[in-house]
Amino acid sequence: MSDLETPLRPKRKTAIVDFLVQFRWIVVIFVVLPISFTIYFLTYLGDVRSEMKSYKRRQKEHDENVQKVVKRLKERNPSKDGLVCTARKPWIAVGMRNVDYKRARHFEVDLSAFRNVLEIDRERMIAKVEPLVNMGQITRVTVPLNLALAVVAEFDDLTVGGLINGYGIEGSSHIYGLFSDTVVAYEIVLADGRVVRATKDNEYSDLFYAIPWSQGTLGFLVSAEIKLIPIKEYMRLTYKPVVGNLQEIAQAYSDSFAPRDGDQDNPEKVPDFVETMIYTPTEAVCMTGRYASKEEAKKKGNVINEVGWWFKPWFYQHAQKALKKGEFVEYIPTREYYHRHTRSIYWEGKLILPFADQWWFRFFLGWMMPPKISLLKATQGEAIRNYYHDMHVIQDMLVPLHKVGNALEWVHHEMEVYPIWLCPHRMYKSPIKTMIYTEPGFEHHRRQGDTHYSQMYTDVGVYYAPGPVLRGEVFDGSEAVRRMESWLIENHGFQPQYAVSELDEKNFWRMFDAGHYEYCRRKYGAVGTFMSVYYKSKKGRKTEKEVQEAEQAIVETPSAEVDEPVDY
Ligand SMILES: Cc1cc2nc3c(=O)[nH]c(=O)nc-3n(C[C@H](O)[C@H](O)[C@H](O)COP(=O)(O)OP(=O)(O)OC[C@H]3O[C@@H](n4cnc5c(N)ncnc54)[C@H](O)[C@@H]3O)c2cc1C
Repeated sequence: MSDLETPLRPKRKTAIVDFLVQFRWIVVIFVVLPISFTIYFLTYLGDVRSEMKSYKRRQKEHDENVQKVVKRLKERNPSKDGLVCTARKPWIAVGMRNVDYKRARHFEVDLSAFRNVLEIDRERMIAKVEPLVNMGQITRVTVPLNLALAVVAEFDDLTVGGLINGYGIEGSSHIYGLFSDTVVAYEIVLADGRVVRATKDNEYSDLFYAIPWSQGTLGFLVSAEIKLIPIKEYMRLTYKPVVGNLQEIAQAYSDSFAPRDGDQDNPEKVPDFVETMIYTPTEAVCMTGRYASKEEAKKKGNVINEVGWWFKPWFYQHAQKALKKGEFVEYIPTREYYHRHTRSIYWEGKLILPFADQWWFRFFLGWMMPPKISLLKATQGEAIRNYYHDMHVIQDMLVPLHKVGNALEWVHHEMEVYPIWLCPHRMYKSPIKTMIYTEPGFEHHRRQGDTHYSQMYTDVGVYYAPGPVLRGEVFDGSEAVRRMESWLIENHGFQPQYAVSELDEKNFWRMFDAGHYEYCRRKYGAVGTFMSVYYKSKKGRKTEKEVQEAEQAIVETPSAEVDEPVDY
């Protein structure tokens, strides 16, 4: 596709909800920000309290809490209680989908106590953590030790449980894969109350491969052992401007981290961190980072930029300066670098508080940023929520690297959303075909970024109000998402399920592979106890008939007769 003409669209009539959205900043400044700040502070105190306990004590409390989960599961009466899910309030999760399954009959199990770091094992280079540990909390513990999770999702509030059972990525995923690829063991409470530890090569290895993307529908995750890597105090970040069409931008982005000679595992040629931001259809900034010691960062002539201070320009706007001043390099303290997009919520902060990027706001009120996503969701009401579904896009398109240029042209034509975030990630060819999987035969092509054991993918992050909406034209958000999903299915792409999904069941299972997931659902007795992943993702409130059908699924699928899925 080379025609970048955007379709002509009629003007849209303004409705009351447009004013509610336009003046939402009043509620955000006077209600959401102060409460957010208080919650962040109280949570921080809770984390500090937890850190004061010995690992032994934390582990003991963990074991007691696991037994409470087992007890609660056993209390469920399958003939009347509904299917099982966590008791987490829908608005607390960062994700944008409606969590409609909690508006119908269901059986809740409270996991809120699972928010502790259980162990940092420097010998095994493993962090053992509970599922509600979030990214801000874990980096506060590990970074002072010059350690980090191999993949630290950028946004502070994202939880280990959500990043594993849902989806998680960051600028080091071109080396380590998605967040779930960095986990070495899961502790899971199964439907019958058994507590098992699943690893790549123990008796539960099938379960190990089925957990990612399963949305908690195989069992409850109560702890995870996650790979740690050694890090240094600073990130040496290079900002490189790119001017050209979207295919040229895609190529420059690929060249920023994937050597054309195929030497993808060579640390000399591949940076530690990568991201690209596309600001217009012809302008982008490619960023590459390498860990650097404090001695190096502090050498005379080097620029240190502490981007974490509340009064500093927002990161995406700071990076954009490379388009005017040309390529530049600076050193950013590592923890501040990890969380560089938190304060401005990538660029969504600009829509929520249009003036919050101005110097006067940053200096006087910037210390209260960001508003908590959970509170934004809790205070938006049905009308604003529906407005965002129709007039706003928050979607990630996971596409093979060689299709990024086409994906960008598609987004421009259908949605016209800028900035766009590009973040590469490895997709491993695992021994078992999991819900998401590589393109068949990719290892024979070995395109840029691929190795014999992994295919390079990219998260094309599309977050913002589309061009037509900003120009006051008609835009049908649901239809645009539907077309995006079709494009993904045709191009071997995937849609993370934290976002609003328009997929019907048939198309859901055209996008994701059901074989191994269904096999594990039956083998581990999840059918008829836990909801299915499509049931959870499906938009719209469930009827009582749907709930009953999902509960009765077990009658039709006796767990004894389970065929093992074939390897691929
Ligand atoms: C504004 C915004 C910013 C974002 N930024 C990033 C980012 O920087 N990097 C990134 O990778 N992603 C990002 N995401 C997407 C994010 O990865 C997903 O929302 C992800 O699923 C984590 O969200 P969460 O921690 O709120 O998990 P939840 O939404 O609470 O959980 C995700 C799923 O996992 C299940 N689950 C959670 N805990 C357990 C458990 N203990 N046992 C069983 N099941 C469980 C839940 O039931 C749910 O189905 C962002 C999303 C938004 C809206």
